[in-house]
Amino acid sequence: MTIDDAPRDALRGGPRELLRWVATGAAVSRADLSRLSGLSPSTVSQRVEALISQGLLEETGAGRSRGGRRPRQLAVPTGGAVVGAIDLGAHHARVGTLDLSGRVVQARTLPVRIEDGPEAVLGALLAEVAALVGSDPAASADGPAAGALRGIGIGIPGPVQHATGRIVSPSRMPGWNGFDVAAFCAGRTDVPVIVDNDANLMALGAHRTAYPELDHAVYIKAGTGIGSGVISSGRLHRGAQGSAGDISHCRVVADPAPPCTCGNAGCLEAVASGAALVTALRGQGVAVSDLTGVIRLIDDGDRQATALARQAGRAVGEILAVVVNFFNPQVVAIGGRLADCEPLLASMRATLYERCLPLATQTLLIERVAAGQDVGITGAAHLVIDHVVAA
Ligand SMILES: [Zn+2]
Repeated sequence: MTIDDAPRDALRGGPRELLRWVATGAAVSRADLSRLSGLSPSTVSQRVEALISQGLLEETGAGRSRGGRRPRQLAVPTGGAVVGAIDLGAHHARVGTLDLSGRVVQARTLPVRIEDGPEAVLGALLAEVAALVGSDPAASADGPAAGALRGIGIGIPGPVQHATGRIVSPSRMPGWNGFDVAAFCAGRTDVPVIVDNDANLMALGAHRTAYPELDHAVYIKAGTGIGSGVISSGRLHRGAQGSAGDISHCRVVADPAPPCTCGNAGCLEAVASGAALVTALRGQGVAVSDLTGVIRLIDDGDRQATALARQAGRAVGEILAVVVNFFNPQVVAIGGRLADCEPLLASMRATLYERCLPLATQTLLIERVAAGQDVGITGAAHLVIDHVVAA
């Protein structure tokens, strides 16, 4: 075993992993769990009993007999415990409920006006979570048990101080600076609420669903804003305050250097984000109102829009080259609305290969995040699951 295997190995056969094996169908009995985990039948039984008493697993009917006593089958109860998840974006929020193995139970997308301020926006989104829990079609006839909701994970499109759940100097969220999301939510729900930035949620969601075997990864979220989340040794790496991976205000080579909302000029976000592309195209006299319009122009092969997308890809690649040389990840995966923008992706990839050490790129995967629109709420749910289900 290498040192790098240690964190993953320490979790082997933990309650969370047993739960995931049952949820994914990898295991249907205690014997399966014992075989997969390498744990003794008595240890597995002890952990299964604890999960059953928490309402996270149930034993149903009888499994296939192999001649002896018919084994009971394990299942994740439908209509049982869920976690709420909110992935807040600049204009929309994805809100959902997920079971304790991280599977989406229900999800919907709502329009959001960030400028309405945190109380109004978060109040409405928390009410939506409550409505989803109350409308779970798989819940029992009496409605879901009062304890069905075990926690809520919230992703914010701006810097979040992890220890406090407070938003610190967001660039595109007027009226949200210093807002204590965790305290606001704690006053409205009695379940645990965990807050993080949206790029970290995407990183965790993609890591758990699309790349669980890759322990060192950088996930870029490129939409209206631009940020990244880092998985190191199989865990989300937040750093001292929670700002690890925030590449939005790293300076890139740009002439002229466009002013940034942070007060500096030439920041990655001012050059390569969706908002920056909209501003730059408008500056060139193109009538475009939002990122959707920009993406449409790029898809149509518009010369100006494509040139800007290439320039943005180069800027992202320059910053990522530093990150890759420094951190040596196995995968760099890009998600968010700009991830489907081929010219941006191509020039990002080319810049990475040009600027990185051969040893760092030898086996490096450079891909789109292949986890769909629920990747953020999946990450949010896993934050909560990691908190409420012991490893
Ligand atoms: Zn800046």
